[in-house]
Amino acid sequence: MSQYVEYNWKANDEKHVWHSMKPYNPEATFIVERAEGAWLTDIDGNKYLDAMAGLWCTNIGYGRKEIADTAYEQMLKNSYTPLTNGHTPAILLSQKISELLGDEYVVFYSNSGSEANEVAFKVARQYHQQKGDTNRYKIISRYRAYHGSSMGALAATGQAQRKYKYEPLAPGFLHVAPPDQYRNPEEAVNGDAKTLPSVKNIDQVMTWEMSETIAAVIMEPIITGGGVIVPNEDYLKGVKEVCEKHGALLIVDEVICGFGRTGTAFGFQNYGIKPDIVTMAKGLTSAYMPLSATAIRREIYEQFVANGDYEFFRHINTFGGSPVACAVALKNIEIMERENLFEQSVVLGESLKRTLKENLEDYPFVGDIRGKGLLIGIELVENKETKTPLDVERVNAVIAYCKKKGVIIGKNGVTVANFNNILTLSPPLSISLEEKDLIANTVIEAVNSIK
Ligand code: PMP
Repeated sequence: MSQYVEYNWKANDEKHVWHSMKPYNPEATFIVERAEGAWLTDIDGNKYLDAMAGLWCTNIGYGRKEIADTAYEQMLKNSYTPLTNGHTPAILLSQKISELLGDEYVVFYSNSGSEANEVAFKVARQYHQQKGDTNRYKIISRYRAYHGSSMGALAATGQAQRKYKYEPLAPGFLHVAPPDQYRNPEEAVNGDAKTLPSVKNIDQVMTWEMSETIAAVIMEPIITGGGVIVPNEDYLKGVKEVCEKHGALLIVDEVICGFGRTGTAFGFQNYGIKPDIVTMAKGLTSAYMPLSATAIRREIYEQFVANGDYEFFRHINTFGGSPVACAVALKNIEIMERENLFEQSVVLGESLKRTLKENLEDYPFVGDIRGKGLLIGIELVENKETKTPLDVERVNAVIAYCKKKGVIIGKNGVTVANFNNILTLSPPLSISLEEKDLIANTVIEAVNSIK
């Protein structure tokens, strides 16, 4: 680049980069040059507090030298070995993941959350086949949940607006109702999971579809991208019981909820269940490297081993579990543990939620404020009685207000029937008290600006 000719970042961004989902829109996006802690700096020198941690993923914050040093050292020591062979960081990381899961799991590595879910579907289907249960192929997930963009993970996704242009997707995927306590008060009754409509619905669907055709259920502990739908405390236990009754495996998608986002190592640990398969990505490396993992309970893995080489698992990828990515993930987890970031997620998350409730709960456009740890959703409605979702223009205006004040927040839900009305907060777990207060104050001001 010449020192005399100014490079036009914006023009070249528009000309050469196909951004995810949206057409190029300089109003909504900005070009980031540096990122440190929870802060982004754009090419014009504007600073933004990233209250979405990128895409819910930069859990330890940006620009950690320790992570850069780890990657540098590992690149010099051993930059690549495929996991058809073995290497030291993958062994140590797998052991660490099992330790965090609290049980014996065997870990398969990939490069994205979508692929981790594809691996889970393949493992579930092949597991049943190898046991002689050859009709079990159906995978059940919930409407509103997002599980990824590849053809299987998109088929599992319960958001029609993302799918209809790409049909037919992978066959054999079914959807059930989400456990929405805000819109269905029967979901909020505690005590007996079997009486929750969402649990009864899964049980009935499995029966009507024939139990012997169901391979697995996949679910996030809390639906994140679909609008931070926090289930009843009993819900996951109920789902696990239903899976056991019908002989299906339970896959828990921890791509967002994992690694402290909800205050525990994994989101399912808030609900006292033991999944058969757990998928993870994002917070596994805090997005310093692309890495995802599918953790499979040891008993399930044993079924594969028992069938010998030729019947073993037929999924392979080039980059999954690279030594550098695994070393970075280990260092990321070490930092989270050293700085007590899981506990901090609970403390700061509860405080943030309390402040938002104290200041916004009575506001006419605020239907519900919910979440766990530093995963918070604010559902905006036209009025509290009808719960009609607030129009997209006003939801967008709140987000634009925050951006103007230097705080980046998210909007989630589904565009179907205008249910894209949930403001989302998911900052790095390493934010300071002052940063937490800045997020709270800005969001309160922004919501109060709705007319
Ligand atoms: N599962 C969940 C719950 C997710 O939120 C995402 C990504 N937002 C995925 C899977 C897919 O992950 P990736 O984008 O890394 O493929």
